[in-house]
Amino acid sequence: MSLYTLTTGTSAWTIKKFDEDYNLESEYDVDEATCTCPRADKPSCRHRQMFTEFFHRDHVDDGWFLEFDANGEHKWHPPAEEAQAVLKEQLEATAAGRPENLQPATPPSIPSRPGTLGIRRRI
Ligand SMILES: [Zn+2]
Repeated sequence: MSLYTLTTGTSAWTIKKFDEDYNLESEYDVDEATCTCPRADKPSCRHRQMFTEFFHRDHVDDGWFLEFDANGEHKWHPPAEEAQAVLKEQLEATAAGRPENLQPATPPSIPSRPGTLGIRRRI
């Protein structure tokens, strides 16, 4: 599952791609006509399709995630708390306008899932 957000970048809009644990996987500058992803030379790509969708739903910069499936199924996910914190950091880094602030993505601390705390072994 891939989740995407649209945020205002320095010179264009930025699409960020996350995995289901809200780890940042990649990001591209995008507008309705261009995209910096590997399919940039194609007439369109999923990011350019999403771009309009984000505006239609008014989910720019508000932390909502679009789950964009290859089958064309779109689902919206409200901002998760930890993801929002990461997004806020990224927005602040973007707002500062200094590329050196964009550190390599450090995974947000994900709360331990039940059952993963310690090792429980039944003998
Ligand atoms: Zn693209």
